[in-house]
Amino acid sequence: MIRVTPIQTGTVSIRPHHHCGEAGKGPIRRKIDMLLDEDWVEDLPIYTYLIEHPEGNFLVDSGDTAENTAKDYLPAWHPFFRHGVIVKVAPGEEVGDQLRGMGVDPSVDLKALILTHMHHDHAGGLHHFPHTPIIVARENFLLANSWKGRIFGCLPQYFPRWLDPTLIEFSDRPFGPFPQSYPLTKDGNVVLVPTPGHMRGHLSVIVRSPDVTYCLAGDSTYDERFLLEELVDGVTYDVELSKQTLRQITALGQQEPTLLLPAHDLRVPERLSKGLCLPRKPVRRAT
Ligand SMILES: [Zn+2]
Repeated sequence: MIRVTPIQTGTVSIRPHHHCGEAGKGPIRRKIDMLLDEDWVEDLPIYTYLIEHPEGNFLVDSGDTAENTAKDYLPAWHPFFRHGVIVKVAPGEEVGDQLRGMGVDPSVDLKALILTHMHHDHAGGLHHFPHTPIIVARENFLLANSWKGRIFGCLPQYFPRWLDPTLIEFSDRPFGPFPQSYPLTKDGNVVLVPTPGHMRGHLSVIVRSPDVTYCLAGDSTYDERFLLEELVDGVTYDVELSKQTLRQITALGQQEPTLLLPAHDLRVPERLSKGLCLPRKPVRRAT
């Protein structure tokens, strides 16, 4: 049996130009637009995902921490953190507490924690997993721990001191439309694929079950509409690379029934309950 269950660790609010940048604008202009924004998008969920697989349980991302709700948690010197993000995680909403509530002990019942990338709302729950193997792409880990990581949405000052993850590099083994991959299970049904654009070294987790393929897309897209219309967020470091990633995920949906599970998509519960997959016919793209 293979099962994928979303676990919501609070909400994050961001600016509209963070959620979706304007077509034709490059990465720097998109950042300026984010800082000039005065509106907010509605509160978005912060999802982690539990994968139950015959070879063991895997958790994808660790969500954010209730400490991030405190006023002085995010660095005040940083314009994005000061202006552009509001995290709300209640005590008990952190992923470790929720896993225990589901009967899953984070220290013994998980084969691995996989990080799609190390932004604060994906790596903020690491302190729950001192005894769990942690997997992240080498490129992403190195960036997250650098000064550039601190500028671009990571908080390495809060990473646990014991953190020593397995740093993976992708091999040139194609998986569907993805030119590279990293199989995680022996049966080949849980596979990591590179999905760069939102952050260097960003990865997604593909889970094949008998009925449907799940694409745990992290932040490679914030929701399905943006994916299908090839609309790229404000965070991207390379718009064309982000679009290439979106095209590869869309192409996976053309090849096999694929249910999209990003980290901040409001429609995840509906999509899972109704089994709504990506459209299998060509989609019209925004120009
Ligand atoms: Zn992110």
